[in-house]
Parts: sequence; C-alpha cells; structure tokens
Amino acid sequence: MLKLVEQPLQKRMANVCTVAAAHAGKVDAEARFPSETLEALKQERLMGVLVPQDLGGSGAGLDEVADICRMLGQACASSGMIYAMHMIKLHNLVVGGAASPWHRSFMERVAREQLLIGSATTEAGIGGDLRNSVCAVETNGPAFALRKEATVISYARQADAIFATARRGPQSASSDQVMVALLQEQYQLEPTHAWDTLGMRGTCSEGFILKGEAPVEQIFPQPFAELAAQSMLSTSHILWTSVWLGIAQDAWNRAQATVRAEARRRPGEKPPAATPLAEANVKLHQLRATIVEALQHFARVEHDADALGSIGFSVAMNNLKVAGSRLACEVVLEALRICGIQGYRNDSPFSIGRHLRDVMSAPLMIANDRVVSNIASSVLVSKANVSLVE
Ligand SMILES: Cc1cc2nc3c(=O)[nH]c(=O)nc-3n(C[C@H](O)[C@H](O)[C@H](O)COP(=O)(O)OP(=O)(O)OC[C@H]3O[C@@H](n4cnc5c(N)ncnc54)[C@H](O)[C@@H]3O)c2cc1C
Repeated sequence: MLKLVEQPLQKRMANVCTVAAAHAGKVDAEARFPSETLEALKQERLMGVLVPQDLGGSGAGLDEVADICRMLGQACASSGMIYAMHMIKLHNLVVGGAASPWHRSFMERVAREQLLIGSATTEAGIGGDLRNSVCAVETNGPAFALRKEATVISYARQADAIFATARRGPQSASSDQVMVALLQEQYQLEPTHAWDTLGMRGTCSEGFILKGEAPVEQIFPQPFAELAAQSMLSTSHILWTSVWLGIAQDAWNRAQATVRAEARRRPGEKPPAATPLAEANVKLHQLRATIVEALQHFARVEHDADALGSIGFSVAMNNLKVAGSRLACEVVLEALRICGIQGYRNDSPFSIGRHLRDVMSAPLMIANDRVVSNIASSVLVSKANVSLVE
C-alpha cells in the first residue's frame, strides 16, 4: 500500500531535485532563499502532502516525507531544511489541530494554496530550550497579542504563516506554554540579527522581534508540552536527520566518483581510497538505519499518546538526533579526506565545501550538549532497550 503512494511522490520529486541542484551553488554563495525550489515544490503540489485527503492533502506518511527531505537535502541542503521545517509545522497542525475548526480550515488552505509555514521557538534568553518561553500570550476578549524576541526564524520573510511558542499568559510559568498560529497579515517582523553563516545559508534564518495579533481560536487547543511530545520532538529529529542523510549521501557520491576515476586511470589496481570509501559507506548505512529505526518506532506509537509521551520514546528520538548529526558529519569529513584537494576546492565537481559547511549545523541545531544533558536524568532511571523483538 505504501508503494502506491510513494511512487508518484518520488516521481514528482525528480523535477524538484533537478531544479534545487541547479541553483544550490548560487543559493549558498548569495545566502538567498531557494525560490526556484519552492516554486517547483508548489507546482508539484508537495507543500500539503501531510494534510489528510479529506482536507485536500495527500495523507502521506512521515516516512515518505522523510525521503523527500533526504532527496532535497542531497540536491540543496538549505532547500531540504526549509521543506523539513515546513513539514514539522504542518505535522504540528495536523496532530494538534484535528479537533479545532480554525486549524482544520487552515490545513485545507495549506493544501489548496500551497502555503509555507515558519517556526519561532528559539528566543533571546532561552536559546534552543524548546520547552521554556519568556514571551507570553496576552489575551484581550476574542483576540490575543504576542511579542517575541525570536533570535532565529528561518525564511520568515517568505513564510505565509509562523507558528510561535509562548507562555500561556503573563502569569504562567516559563514551561506552561502554548503554540499559536499567526498569518502573514497578522504579524510584523522587526529585523534584529542577519544570517551570514558558515552553512545552511539559503535558510535565511534571520532574527526578528515578532509582533502579532490574532483571534484566540488560532491558539492551538492543547498545551505545547503535549504537542511537543506528540509531534514536534519526533518529526524534528526524524526530518532534520533525513536532510543530513541527504547531505552525507551526496558527499559520499562525490567521494565514490573520485575513487572510480582513479580506478579507471589504473585498470586492475585497487585505488588506495577504496578502503576509506568503504569505511564511509559503513557510516552512511548506519545513519540510514538509525533513521529507519526511528521511523518504525514512530509508526508503532504515533496514535498512542502515552507511548509518545514516554521516557523511552523521548530518549530514542533524542538519541537519533545526536547519533544522526555525528554520523552525518563523520561521513562528510571522510568524503573530504577521500576527495583530497579536489574536495577542498570550491570550483571542482568533487567539491565537498558546501556539504561540510551545511552539515556542521547539525550538532548545533538544538545543541547536542543540551540534548544529551536533557536526557541524562531519564537515562539514569530507564532501562536501555536493546531487545531485538518488539
Ligand atoms: C539552519 C538552522 C535553522 C534554524 N531555524 C530555526 C527556526 O526556524 N526557528 C527557530 O525557532 N529556531 C531555529 N534554529 C535554532 C535552533 O533550532 C536552535 O534553537 C539554536 O541553534 C540553538 O541556539 P544556541 O546555540 O544559541 O542556543 P543554546 O541551545 O542556548 O546553546 C548555547 C550553548 O550552550 C550549550 N548548552 C546549552 N544548554 C546546555 C545544557 N543543558 N548542557 C550543556 N550545554 C548546554 C550548547 O552546547 C551551546 O554551545 C535554527 C538553527 C539552524 C542551525
């Protein structure tokens, strides 16, 4: 059954990937939004694939979306990460908005109009601590207002809507959070930080003061703590890691091409770099297996709120993030070693420069130190699950 849905999506992606790869160099050099990729994604009607079919989407599974992220990450990492972040927000909407008329009608709009959703969780004074906020929702009758010092919002200038986390109210504790949906015409962005970075330059993740006002029905009904457990934790780590797999895959492909060229120059001899290439292949497959395992785990529990909120699931998803980011960096570094000076050059077909700069964001995108420290107490009290049967 999966194949029937997967085939058309894969086919539709082929054209998008060609467009993304053709513009990846300029997107990176100019640190500009990959508008050509987004246009191609919209033309192929890929922006609303997670929306249920009765609301106009494709009802795609997370595994299919993860594979799109991988393919895009291989062609242009910034495009892949933008698509991944949009899909994380869309998953939040589908899971968190299922019982809310406003959120359901917004799902329909996303599918029909192929809208792009951004995310504002990171905040001045909080950094990557997703589960705490400084800013608060201020409710006044049927409307609410929000002012957030959002130090990083990817593609904020291009987004049609932004989902932001905030304290439930001015008196609420920092961890008593909600998520709110703000439409483009309901917010203003005051720029605070530019985005001139080592890599992921096309994500245009500038800092802003986000100021918005909207009807209270746009506040997600459940506490953000639940939404984070049921949707955000797993989708973020699975889809980000899928993009990093795409980057690692493309770097490995370039390394393989250099070793093959060497083999053609010396027929009958095994090129010395064939062994490190095989070593890097071990890591690439380990990375893929780590994601597949997380996808299977998610598929088993996705409709079980208790299992999604369990320590075991949280540890598994956080482990994926840390292991996946490390493995992706290792594969790209090994690809650089294999390609040698051709990989180090920016003007060679075997260049690994962009891959290396892009993948170095992986351990920082919610710092691995923070992730490991967050799960340290859970690991102390839970059993390591090493069983091979479920
Ligand atoms: C390409 C890209 C796109 C992004 N897009 C968005 C977006 O659209 N929206 C958004 O909201 N955010 C976005 N982010 C931000 C991201 O999700 C993280 O929140 C952010 O990178 C963390 O920033 P930080 O390192 O300043 O903060 P922190 O998480 O505060 O980390 C600062 C330093 O403190 C250390 N540290 C922090 N906590 C601990 C701890 N408990 N134990 C040990 N050490 C610790 C870390 O190692 C790190 O060096 C994006 C990031 C990237 C790289």
